[in-house]
Amino acid sequence: MGQFPVKGNNLVIGGITLARLAQRVGSTPFYAYDRQLISQRVAELRQQMPQNLKIHYALKANPMPAVVQHLAGLVDGFDLASAGEMKVALDTPMSPEHISLAGPGKRPAELAQAIAAGVTINVESPNELETIAQLSGQSGIQARIALRINPAFELKASGMKMGGGAKQFGIDEEIVPDVLKRTQALALDFQGFHIYSGSQNLKAEAIIEAQQKSLALATRLSADCPSPIKKLNIGGGYGIPYFPGDTALDTQAVGDALAESMGHFHKTHPQAEVIIELGRYLVGEAGLYVCQVLDKKVSRGQIYLIVDGGLHHHLAASGNFGQVIRKNYPVAIGNKMNGHTIETVTIVGPLCTPLDTLADKTALPTAEIGDFVVVYQSGAYGYSASPKDFLTQPKAEEVLV
Ligand SMILES: *Cc1c(COP(=O)(O)O)cnc(C)c1O
Repeated sequence: MGQFPVKGNNLVIGGITLARLAQRVGSTPFYAYDRQLISQRVAELRQQMPQNLKIHYALKANPMPAVVQHLAGLVDGFDLASAGEMKVALDTPMSPEHISLAGPGKRPAELAQAIAAGVTINVESPNELETIAQLSGQSGIQARIALRINPAFELKASGMKMGGGAKQFGIDEEIVPDVLKRTQALALDFQGFHIYSGSQNLKAEAIIEAQQKSLALATRLSADCPSPIKKLNIGGGYGIPYFPGDTALDTQAVGDALAESMGHFHKTHPQAEVIIELGRYLVGEAGLYVCQVLDKKVSRGQIYLIVDGGLHHHLAASGNFGQVIRKNYPVAIGNKMNGHTIETVTIVGPLCTPLDTLADKTALPTAEIGDFVVVYQSGAYGYSASPKDFLTQPKAEEVLV
C-alpha cells in the first residue's frame, strides 16, 4: 500500500501526519479521503483512456458531499442511484445534462424530481417508461431518458454481476426493440442506452470483451431508436486490489482496446458520446478508515486488539458486504509504520458480535492501547454502506484532506 507516504513512523494523509490529523478531527474513528490521490487517479485514467471517452463518477461508491464537489471539477458527469444522491450532485457545479439516474424501483416522486432537474433517467422497465411519460405530460417538461439494457452477455470474472441472465436491472435485450417502438410513440427526449454489466473486475480481457459487446449491442439496437444515439453509457466495473494475490487492473490495455472499438462505433454513430461510469476505481484507494486501540488482551494464546471502530462503520472490511469468503483488508498501525517487532493479532471492534472483526490473525508491528489502526482501500463502500445504528455506537467523522 504505497499510495500514502510515511514520515518517521507516521502515515501521512493529504500532507498531514496521522497523529496530527487525528488531533484535528478530535475523535476516532474517522474516515480520511485524500483529494490529491483522487485528482491523480482521474488524471492517470484520462491518459490511458481514449481522449473522447467521457468519464462519469457513480456517487454510490462515496456520496460524501465534499468528495462529490471535488470530483465535479475532475470528471465529465455523475451517475446517481437515488433522489438523495441527486440532491448532493445538484449542489455541485455539474450540469444536469451530464447527470443520469439509474436504479430499479424509482418512486414516482423521485422520477418527477429527476424530470424537473433535467437529468437523464435510465429507464429500468416498460412500466417505468409509462410512468415517466405520464409524469412528463403532467409537468409539461419533456423527460430525458435512456434505456438501461440487461444484456444477454455477462461481465466475466466480476465481483458482482449486474447484467446477463435474469436480473432486476434494466430491460432484457430481447424486448428492447419493442420498448424502443413504444418510446417512439411517447413525447420523450431519447438520449441512448445504459449497459451496466458488473462491478469490481480486475481482468482487462473481461472488461474489454464486455465493452466491445456493449458497443456492438448498441449498434444492433440503433435501427429501432426514435432518434440517433446521443449517449451510450457502457458501464464500468474497473476494480481495485483489496486482498493478497489481487493484481491491479491493466487500465492501459483496456484503454487501448477501447480506442479501437470506439473508432469502429463512431464510424456509424459519429454524434454519440461514449461514457464509462466508475465508482470505487476513482475513490477507493484514496480513503482510509482510522480507529484507535482501546484494549489489548490475550485469549488462549491469541492476541486481540480491540479498537473503537468496527463493522458499524465499515461493513465491507468486516467481510459482510457481499463477500463469499472473509479476507482481511490491508491494515497497518498508522503511528508505527516502521515498527520492527512484529506480532500476529486479531483486530476486533467494540460490538457484541463475532462478526465485528476488522482483521483476522494478521502480522503487524506490536501495537498498544492508544495506537492507530488504519484500514486501507476504504474510500468506497465504507461509511455510507455500513449499519451506523447497529449497537448504538458513536458515529464516525469523514474528512477530505
Ligand atoms: C454500483 C454501480 C456503479 C459503481 O460501481 P463500482 O464498482 O464502484 O465502480 C456504477 N454504475 C452502476 C449502475 C452501479 O450500480
